[in-house]
Amino acid sequence: MKTAIVRVIQQCLIKEGLNPGKADGLLGYNTYRAINDALTKRKQGLPGDWPGWPNTRKTVVYIQLLCKEQGIEVGDIDGYWGPQTDYAFDTLVHILETGQAPRPWRDETPLDVNPNGWPSQNEAELNELYGKVGTNQVSLALPYPHRLAWDLKTTINSYQCNAKVHDSANRVLQRVFDHYGMERIKELRLDRWGGCLNVRKMRGGTQWSMHSWGIAMDYDPEDNQLKWGRDKAVFAKPDYDDWWRFWEEEGWTSLGRTKNYDWMHVQATKL
Ligand SMILES: [Zn+2]
Repeated sequence: MKTAIVRVIQQCLIKEGLNPGKADGLLGYNTYRAINDALTKRKQGLPGDWPGWPNTRKTVVYIQLLCKEQGIEVGDIDGYWGPQTDYAFDTLVHILETGQAPRPWRDETPLDVNPNGWPSQNEAELNELYGKVGTNQVSLALPYPHRLAWDLKTTINSYQCNAKVHDSANRVLQRVFDHYGMERIKELRLDRWGGCLNVRKMRGGTQWSMHSWGIAMDYDPEDNQLKWGRDKAVFAKPDYDDWWRFWEEEGWTSLGRTKNYDWMHVQATKL
């Protein structure tokens, strides 16, 4: 058993007033004795022959009981470490560290509405609505000041975007400002701007990037790097639910929310 797991067990034993010795991550006599004490306290929920089980099996039983007591689905209390115990243990650690259950991200579904009639991500359709790449650009006067992500001393009050997305982006950013306020916007780094119009091919591809039409925006690229998934990207956190809702209600697509990469990016197309 990994030392990190054993350390969690020892910390739990200490917390319930039992004495496994130091939380050193090593399974030894004191830790096993404390686990026996912990199981004795809970013997009503155990099969009658548990005292004869090997110490390693009792250790897993203790973890399973801790999970069950926290309301985590752990399956049978059988002392065998399978995938369900593995997942339950991760959840237990999260609860012990943060005081709350991890967010069930599999349940999140991005909104799929299209009130502005954004095209799909297809060059002919994009050219038809937005014009040729790099054309049809206007200045968007920002509802709240942004800063260049790579040079935070530089404040910007407008940026170039495609004329067709101007009003929609303006509404989104106005809602962001009304909802979060400037102080919270700064905390959440929703003012760290990473760019809009940029006529270039997609990274690692041969097709035009959505930035080429000025219909994609990047925010806080440093904390939401291209290949990062929701385990690392800051914009995947619940604090950003409303940020994404404002974009999605206008029909914009987040690659983070739909494909779990490029969480900095939002674009006025449907996938
Ligand atoms: Zn982008």
